[in-house]
Amino acid sequence: MPDLLHTKIASIGGIGDRKALLLEKEVGIKTIEDLIYYFPYRYVDKSKYVKINQIESEEVYIQIKGRVISKEIITGKANRLSVRFADETGSTELVFFKGLKWMIEALKEGEYYVIFGKPSKFQNSFNFVHPEFELLNKHLAAPPEHFSPMYSTTEAMKNAFLNSKTLSKIIRSAFALIGHGIEETLPEYIIKKYSLSSRANALFQIHFPDSTENLEKAKMRLKFEELFFMQLEHQITKSNRHEKSKGFVFGQVGEHFHDFYNNHLPFSLTKAQQRVIKEIRADMRSGHQMNRLLQGDVGSGKTLVALLTILIALDNGFQGAIMTPTEILANQHYNSIKAFLKDMPLRVALLTGSTKAAERRKILPKIENGEIDIVIGTHALLEESVVFKNLGLAVIDEQHRFGVQQRYKMWRKNTIAPHILVMTATPIPRTLAMTVYGDLECSVIDELPPGRKPVTTVHFYEKSRRRLFDFIREQIRAGRQIYIVYPLIEESEKLDLLDLKNGYDAIERSFPLPDYHISMLHGRLKPQDKEYEMDLFKRGITNIMVATTVIEVGVDIPNASVMVIENAERFGLSQLHQLRGRVGRGAEQSFCILMTKDNLSADSRKRIETMCQTSDGFAISEADLQLRGPGDIAGTAQSGILNLRIADIVKDEPIMREARRLAEFIISRDPQLLYPDNALLRKYIINKQPEKDYSMIS
Ligand code: ADP
Ligand code: MG
Repeated sequence: MPDLLHTKIASIGGIGDRKALLLEKEVGIKTIEDLIYYFPYRYVDKSKYVKINQIESEEVYIQIKGRVISKEIITGKANRLSVRFADETGSTELVFFKGLKWMIEALKEGEYYVIFGKPSKFQNSFNFVHPEFELLNKHLAAPPEHFSPMYSTTEAMKNAFLNSKTLSKIIRSAFALIGHGIEETLPEYIIKKYSLSSRANALFQIHFPDSTENLEKAKMRLKFEELFFMQLEHQITKSNRHEKSKGFVFGQVGEHFHDFYNNHLPFSLTKAQQRVIKEIRADMRSGHQMNRLLQGDVGSGKTLVALLTILIALDNGFQGAIMTPTEILANQHYNSIKAFLKDMPLRVALLTGSTKAAERRKILPKIENGEIDIVIGTHALLEESVVFKNLGLAVIDEQHRFGVQQRYKMWRKNTIAPHILVMTATPIPRTLAMTVYGDLECSVIDELPPGRKPVTTVHFYEKSRRRLFDFIREQIRAGRQIYIVYPLIEESEKLDLLDLKNGYDAIERSFPLPDYHISMLHGRLKPQDKEYEMDLFKRGITNIMVATTVIEVGVDIPNASVMVIENAERFGLSQLHQLRGRVGRGAEQSFCILMTKDNLSADSRKRIETMCQTSDGFAISEADLQLRGPGDIAGTAQSGILNLRIADIVKDEPIMREARRLAEFIISRDPQLLYPDNALLRKYIINKQPEKDYSMIS
């Protein structure tokens, strides 16, 4: 049977080469399959009409019934056809800029029509630009359309009259052309289990539903299919990698680990840390390469888990590395790991973009000949010149800034890929993790070290600044240190730096020398100046650190107990949470003060409220996802994984969970999809991505 779905749309009657080209260029529709998968975003009930004197909103598409009173072509920069159109309650104007000749013929004076379009306000009355129209008699002769599909169209499409009406006609012709040519992609047992519509039926109904119920069934089927195949691919990748990828076997936990654990660890591990380390250990001695995501809230002790994991690598004769997205964070990890290991004979090196050439020349050979055990650094670690003697484990502190490419580069740092532990700075909601990191195993630290006092978070308006400064003085008198953070958003970097500078000057006036020491930290400073300022603060010499978000990640100074966030309305939730995580690390009660202007948008208000109400990172990222949608969560947009046509990972979370469960179950029993029952799945996967290496499915 010829593959009709994959034929070009130009073979559909009514689509000439010009329209076909336009559809491809504007919305990427090339084949009949693309066309059929171009789903409506809304449906309009075309059995209803609005009276002209009752039009009130510009927001929605409406239909009116009436008569053409007059028409004229008005010449100007662009000629337009203006048509006066009336019903028994009043009149309105229809405007056309394109196809005037044809329009003036088609719209006859005195004749009755049905007009469909979106009203726009023009000098206190509404008009319709390029509405659809149809002779009233013809309209009434056809059965009433309760669910007329609306498709998104671009300006160029509209100008070529490729509007919703035309598209729906074209799609109808496509269905007529392919007849029964839409094959099922889901096996019978899945369809039965979830009482799904058939694919052919769902695809037809999503465009031309005959009832609300059938429309819902169609949506359900298509969402399920979309999420299921995404999860199936994740499971295949995972299982494939698991089968194929040999990993170093870290069979023993040895001297370094035990020495550190018994003699140098300054506190006991939380239950969650213990559990996670067990999960990691099991991976590392399985003989397969580990690819694990470690999630945990700010301050939950991920660094320590990373260190213990590295010690296991060392115990088995390998080197370990930690890669961070920023230099500040690399320094921070370096310092805390040096401090943890200070009485142990292990050699740790720091390698970042600002490591001096002479220093690099010293370090690189030592990494290569094994004289260095642990390397901590930025993406500088990925350079070709960094050659390890025997890298066994790489920890990637991801913060949404690295991504898959870098992970693969790390893999190539040894003959067999080293074990990989990815850590995220802020927890991400489970749904998002399942989508973006769906091919990684996942461990969660869901517990903070004991004795942490929750940070008290309050919202101040600008008018309370005096109170804020009084409070800061009080805290400094009590020996505490303060962060004051300004937003720095790249597009307006200059302006923001000015904000920072002005803020700094104002603070300097209120907190003058010699009583107070203030310093300023921002991304434009040279690394050594940054480090100098950080060091003053760490040693307790600086009282107030005025900074941009460069301190967002990783900075760990227990004596700092107040975090003031200026223009807090301009920060996203996860950033606010990260910043707040910089305090609450010591024994003292800590505070986070969110300063904002007086009038806030609804979304800003919601963010500020969320921050004041909860300190649970998972709850916050969930709220973030609800507020902004998945595409806007840092880093996910570029991942391309979220290009879903119909499913919404927030609203359709229950479907996703079920789809994942099913995919896991199927791949665990039939990893190569060889059972006859799974033949359709196998076929789908092979067809979909022949370029990908599904070599296990031979
Ligand atoms: P994260 O990277 O997850 O944000 P860190 O690893 O920086 O958190 O840990 C935050 C702080 O908590 C550090 O000062 C660390 O030494 C400390 N810490 C880690 N684990 C424990 C524990 N089990 N008990 C007490 N303190 C801990
Ligand atoms: Mg950390």
